[in-house]
Amino acid sequence: MNYQPIIGMEVHVELNTKSKMFCGCSADFFGVPPNTNVCPVCLGMPGVLPVINQKAVEYTIMTGLALNCAIQPHNVFARKNYFYPDLPKGYQISQYELPLCLDGFINIQTEDSDIAKRVRIRRVHLEEDTGKLTHVNDHSLVDLNRAGVPLMEIVTEADLHSAEEAYAYVTKLRQIVRYLGVSTGDMEKGAMRCEVNLSLQNVETGEWGTKVEIKNLNSFRAVRNSIAYEIERQHRVLAEGGVIEQTTRGWDENRGVTFLQRSKEGDTGYRYFPEPDLPPLELDPAWIEQIKASLPELPDAKLLRYTAAYDLTRKEAAVLVEDAAVADYYERVVAATRDSTGVTPKLISNWVSGELFRLLTDSNTNIAEVKIKPEHLVALVELVNTNAINQPAAKKIFGAMFATGRPPEVLVQEMGLQQMSDEGELVGIVQQVIADHPGPVEQFKGGKDTAIQFLMGQVMRATRGKANPQLAEQMLRRQLQG
Ligand SMILES: [Zn+2]
Repeated sequence: MNYQPIIGMEVHVELNTKSKMFCGCSADFFGVPPNTNVCPVCLGMPGVLPVINQKAVEYTIMTGLALNCAIQPHNVFARKNYFYPDLPKGYQISQYELPLCLDGFINIQTEDSDIAKRVRIRRVHLEEDTGKLTHVNDHSLVDLNRAGVPLMEIVTEADLHSAEEAYAYVTKLRQIVRYLGVSTGDMEKGAMRCEVNLSLQNVETGEWGTKVEIKNLNSFRAVRNSIAYEIERQHRVLAEGGVIEQTTRGWDENRGVTFLQRSKEGDTGYRYFPEPDLPPLELDPAWIEQIKASLPELPDAKLLRYTAAYDLTRKEAAVLVEDAAVADYYERVVAATRDSTGVTPKLISNWVSGELFRLLTDSNTNIAEVKIKPEHLVALVELVNTNAINQPAAKKIFGAMFATGRPPEVLVQEMGLQQMSDEGELVGIVQQVIADHPGPVEQFKGGKDTAIQFLMGQVMRATRGKANPQLAEQMLRRQLQG
C-alpha cells in the first residue's frame, strides 16, 4: 500500500510586547523569581477586568499581513474552558470563531528542492499564555510569571507532506517573526512551540487516515525528527494490519520516539463562548492600512531584490537574507562602494558569507558587534582589485580588521603585506628560483606544464606570499621559454 503523509501545523509564538495580554505585568519575566510577575488580573482573581493589549493586536496584524492573510475588522475573544494547574482562571482567553487573521499563505523551500512550495495559513489568532509547570520527582511546581503573556497561534492547512517541509515551514515562520520584530522566535526558550497533526493518506483511494497530534515540540530538530518517526510508526502499524487511533502523542528526545499521552477530545470539550468581560474588538481599516504601510521588507522580497539588483544567485542571496541584521550589514557595505573601482555587490557577498561568517562562527560573535566598518571592507576589496595586495594577504588583513576595526590601508603597511607587482623587484627572485631548482625546470622544459606550480610556490615562499602571482607566473614562463 502506498501512503502519503498529510501534515498540518499549529505554532504558538510568544509576542515580545512590554506588558502581558490583559494586564500591566511585564511580558518579559526572564530571571524573575517564580510567581512574582503577577497581579490579580493574570492570577484570575474574582471581580477583575481584562484590558486588551493594543501592541499585541498590532503585532498579530503585522504577522497576518506578512503571511498574506485577510485581517478581520470584527473580532471576538472567547473563553476556552478547561482546568489545569498552570491556568489559575480555569479558562484561557482566546479567539475561536472570529480570529484576527484568515486565509493566508507562505512559500517555503526545502534544501533538496529549487521550487518554492505554497503552504496555506488557515488562521492566526491571539490568546494568552498559561503558567509553567516544572515536574520534580513525584510532584509539580507551578510558576505563573508566564500566565497572560500574549501568544499568537498560527494554524496551517494540511499542506505539508514530509518532515523536511515541516522543518522548512517553521524555519521560515521564525525568520518572518524575527524580521517583523514581534517575537524572538527562540524555540529553545519556549518563545515558539509547535504542534503537528499527522495522518497518512492512501494514495490509491485518496482516503485520509486517522489524525494523530504530536504536542510540545520545542526545537527545530524535534519537529523534524518526531515527524519522521511518526510517519514510520504509522506505516508500520498499517503494514501489520493495525489501526491508527486518534491520540495525542509526546516526543521523547532522548529515546527518539513519540509516545502516547492521551486520547484526543474534540473542541467541544472546551465549551467555548464569547468572553463576557471584553467587548468585541472592532478594528479601524485605516489603522490596518497604516500597519501594512509600515511593514519592513520581508525575506522573500529581499531575496528577489538581491538576485535582480546585485546579480547574486538565489543561494547567495538566501544566505545573506537569512538574518535581517546580516542583510542590513551587507547593504551598508554595498552602499559604501564607489562606482569606478569595480567593487561589485557580488565580491562583497563573497567576503560577507565567506570570511566574515567564518570569523563570526569561530569567535562566537554576533553580527551587531562586528567592528569592520562598511567603508573599510570596500577599501579592502579595492586593494585587491588594484593589485596592491593579493588574495592570501587580503584574508590576513581581513582577520586583523575583524579583530581591531582598523582600516586596511594602515594594516597593509604595518603587516608588510604590500603585493610585489614590480618586475624590477621580482626579477632577481625569479632568476634565483630557476637557478636553485634545475629538476623542475627540466621537467617544465620537457613539456610538464604543471612543474610551473612548484616554481611559483618557491617564488611565493621567497617573497613571503607577497608576489603578485599572475606577474610571477608570467615572468617565470618568459624566462623558461626564452
Ligand atoms: Zn498581571
